[in-house]
Amino acid sequence: MPERKTTDINASSPVTVLSGVGKTRAAAYARLGIFTLGDLIRHYPRAYENRGDVRMLSEARIDGKTAVILTVGSEPRSVRLRSHKSFLKFRAFDESGVCDIVYFNQDYLKNSFPIGSTFRFYGKVERKGKLYSMASPVAEAWTETVPLPPLWAVYRMTEGISPKQIAKDVAAALALLSADGVDPLPTYLRERHGLCTLSYAERNIHSPTDWQAVTRARKRLVYDEFFCFALGAAMSSRSAKQTGAPICENGDITPLTRQLPYTLTDAQKRAIDDIRRDMATDVPMSRIVVGDVGCGKTVCAAAAMLIAVQNGRQAALMAPTEILARQHYADLKPIFERIGISCELLIGATPASEKRRIKQALIASHPAVRLSIVIGTHALLSDGVEFSAPGLVVTDEQHRFGARQRALLSEKNAHAHLLVMSATPIPRSLALVLYGDLDLSKIDEMPPGRQRVDTFAVDESYRERLNGFIRKQVDAGGQVYVVCPAIEEQETAPDELELRDIMPDGSRREEQPPLKAAVKYAEEMQKVFPEFCVAFLHGKMKSGEKDAVMHAFSQGEVQVLVSTTVIEVGVNVPNACLMIVENAERFGLSQLHQLRGRVGRGTRKSYCVLVAGGTGAVGERSRARLDTMRTTYDGYAIAEQDLAQRGPGDFLGNASDGSVRQSGGLVFRLADAGEDSAILTDATADARELVLHDPSLSQYPALLERVTELFAVDQGLIS
Ligand code: ADP
Ligand code: MG
Repeated sequence: MPERKTTDINASSPVTVLSGVGKTRAAAYARLGIFTLGDLIRHYPRAYENRGDVRMLSEARIDGKTAVILTVGSEPRSVRLRSHKSFLKFRAFDESGVCDIVYFNQDYLKNSFPIGSTFRFYGKVERKGKLYSMASPVAEAWTETVPLPPLWAVYRMTEGISPKQIAKDVAAALALLSADGVDPLPTYLRERHGLCTLSYAERNIHSPTDWQAVTRARKRLVYDEFFCFALGAAMSSRSAKQTGAPICENGDITPLTRQLPYTLTDAQKRAIDDIRRDMATDVPMSRIVVGDVGCGKTVCAAAAMLIAVQNGRQAALMAPTEILARQHYADLKPIFERIGISCELLIGATPASEKRRIKQALIASHPAVRLSIVIGTHALLSDGVEFSAPGLVVTDEQHRFGARQRALLSEKNAHAHLLVMSATPIPRSLALVLYGDLDLSKIDEMPPGRQRVDTFAVDESYRERLNGFIRKQVDAGGQVYVVCPAIEEQETAPDELELRDIMPDGSRREEQPPLKAAVKYAEEMQKVFPEFCVAFLHGKMKSGEKDAVMHAFSQGEVQVLVSTTVIEVGVNVPNACLMIVENAERFGLSQLHQLRGRVGRGTRKSYCVLVAGGTGAVGERSRARLDTMRTTYDGYAIAEQDLAQRGPGDFLGNASDGSVRQSGGLVFRLADAGEDSAILTDATADARELVLHDPSLSQYPALLERVTELFAVDQGLIS
């Protein structure tokens, strides 16, 4: 095998260029989504072991690991057991006590602990009577003069790889790549915001000298994530507009409006005018209609679809869930039918023969037999769905789809007009990043006569009263939603510090209360209300099951529906009048606003109760934050607050289950916590300024390389 020159190695080199990383370990890394050296370096610690929190034996933590500084007091003795096993044992002490230290099957350590030498041991301290013991603690030689690092990175793990190996490989990757030493960020920007260098940041996020270093490192890396994303978005924007879209200049929407039991609001009329103007040219429309829950976006989409069909074209409406697709179909099919326009539903659950028929009808060349409108889920993106005369693609509740699907969508329909509907009012700064490539129509007016959903923020002490309130609502014929956060994947041990929980001043975010899980919660609820029918809904259920539950709820057969956030989007059950959100502090305010929008859709007086988990000061504080919801009903004001408090994570295309923490792209690994919105604003402004002066980043080749790595690669991956 020819020897590889170090200069050939860059962030895109596979992890196997590291010595000791073979096929097996590479496969383990692949499971963590790590393929390249760059991926490895961006496998940031999920937490840090707080080894700098040194305690006396007598004050060791009982709920986790402790760092103690002990002096060896007896010579290590090796004790042989049967079956080739052995252990090494010695005593060590500090001022508060004596500790037995044991290592299993590590006889080679025998000479590592001479009597009188001092170590920092890190591990679980047990106590039996007066004697302490530690099994296989991490040991680091300790001296007065050279301080030991206080923090040790803890990584997300997978089978087949040890924490030590990850740490070693990360260090090796850093050593290889820092050789070239070019900081991709223009110096003037680094100076403008007082950011550390990239190599400092990468080194200190993995093996920090102290908390302050972690904080500085994090700030730089967060800035880079935003900056590169914004640059990538600006550079790949559709601003260099193509042509070739079908010109749809003859549109008359009166056949639609005539059927409506209401008149359009001025804001709706404006949005439809924007759409009409876009569609009348051969430049493909890329427009997003943003408007608060219930402002009436669907009818704007319907108008656009009608215009497309009137011009001899087809239209597709794509919803993020089957529930929502069915609902749109139920609402729109009768309207289009009365105008003599064919409309079908195509979702995963559609029987195969039916699918075949619909696909056939979509590619029919003769307008008389051609299917004009298809409503569905991302099933519409799947292979084999083609249009003989594509005109318009509408995606509803865009933030559920994420940038990648949008890319796929526009690729597949390069010449079709694209209309995006979003109920998440997006803060202005973020809209530039997320939808920089889209024109914006804002529906900032609600249909007249909408009732306000009275909102309360409470804590556990209100449980009894809350149950009474539920009973009262159901007895009066109403229905209730209860939303619980999705279950967390990984628990952080109590002695570890989670990276995302570090506050800007280096202090730690508060402990989180335990979460309520939907299924278990529903069982409890059923016991409290034996006379009601309680059902649950979560993202892992099959779509058929979900639909059945949702149908039963909309028919009033189920009175209390316990759910994860799968119901967040678009669902319409006018008889529902009470929305309860458990562990509400886990949600972004915008998400809560969306959830609140599920009630108050009919004639019943409606309520939203936000239950903050945690007790004492924790509960107090989350309640104070949630109190915003009590006084604010404007989705935009809430969105701005949300961005300020929690950062952009919630706006960046959540996972389909709406799990609170996961963000859609791989781009933002660190930039997720609440304190980052100021950095976001800076980074976005900087990116726009830079692209204005140097659209192709010709003066900054290292930056271009990094943007390509962080943005383009990621965007290209279609999951
Ligand atoms: P969203 O913007 O959340 O998608 P929808 O399009 O589902 O909202 O509309 C919510 C409800 O408001 C629907 O029942 C719809 O019929 C009704 N609606 C829409 N526009 C108006 C209007 N101008 N006046 C009265 N009701 C309207
Ligand atoms: Mg909608």
